[in-house]
Amino acid sequence: MTRFDATSQPLALTFEGVDRAAHHRMDEAWLAAAWSHPSTRVFVVSGGQVLVEDGPDGRTSLVMTPAFDAPETETHRYFLGIDPDGVRYFALQKDTLPGRMDEEARPAGLREVGGLLSPLEAGLMVHAVALENWQRMHRFCSRCGERTVIAAAGHIRRCPACGAEHYPRTDPAVIMLVTDDKDRALLGRQVHWPEGRFSTLAGFVEPGESIEQSVRREVLEEAGVVIGDVEYVASQPWPFPSSLMLGFNAQATSSEITVDGEEIHEARWFSRDDLRAAFESGEVLPPFGISIAARLIELWYGKPLPRPGTA
Ligand SMILES: [Zn+2]
Repeated sequence: MTRFDATSQPLALTFEGVDRAAHHRMDEAWLAAAWSHPSTRVFVVSGGQVLVEDGPDGRTSLVMTPAFDAPETETHRYFLGIDPDGVRYFALQKDTLPGRMDEEARPAGLREVGGLLSPLEAGLMVHAVALENWQRMHRFCSRCGERTVIAAAGHIRRCPACGAEHYPRTDPAVIMLVTDDKDRALLGRQVHWPEGRFSTLAGFVEPGESIEQSVRREVLEEAGVVIGDVEYVASQPWPFPSSLMLGFNAQATSSEITVDGEEIHEARWFSRDDLRAAFESGEVLPPFGISIAARLIELWYGKPLPRPGTA
């Protein structure tokens, strides 16, 4: 995806850099050899967190160890892939993160460090966190209720009772920057958000629905605005716990706003001048964080948005 490059950095959590090498996942002999290879790197994932450290240059990195230093629980290891230098990466699922390995190591989640890690490490972390979320919530067979066991180096759960194989779930969600015929953007404030926090509308795709239908339904439900053309922009894995955010530009064919009051408390049309003035006065908080929402707004705005505290 290059559309973001003109205005900003590549979208967080969408970096490439590791070959997932899925054909090795079922090959126990290969996995055992890869695990014990001295160049292999392992990190622990627990409750969506990993250990990170900040180097002397200020860069944040994953705390990774060779496999021989890592705790021995083969049944909870995920094979994540191979980098261009041939280094193999595993994540180890644990109930807790190991004790502090050194002074600098600290636990962190994706929202905090997903935009700070190197592209390769951020990609490894998002893969591991997504797998862990799925593993923890799918311990029992959805067909017969028996306890399932991990297989395929973390990418399948198998039921010993009925033989069912369960694969990681990804739940599609749509997120859209709605504009009207005056090129104003529709931004909303969710019921639980603080005053001044506005962002794009979003929602989950329902069964039996296309993503374009989902965009139109969500905007109509949440803001009462009718949508015509829908244009796909980019996607972002969002493992909180298992979403895939599908980002769109959506063209409104009506302008009257009627918020649902359940999910969206308030929605407004903003011209670029309106938004800039609202940022400068502090009336609206600039979006922050790694979400595609900020990027969709930025694409429309035409230049980087002010960072919180700098407006
Ligand atoms: Zn079963």
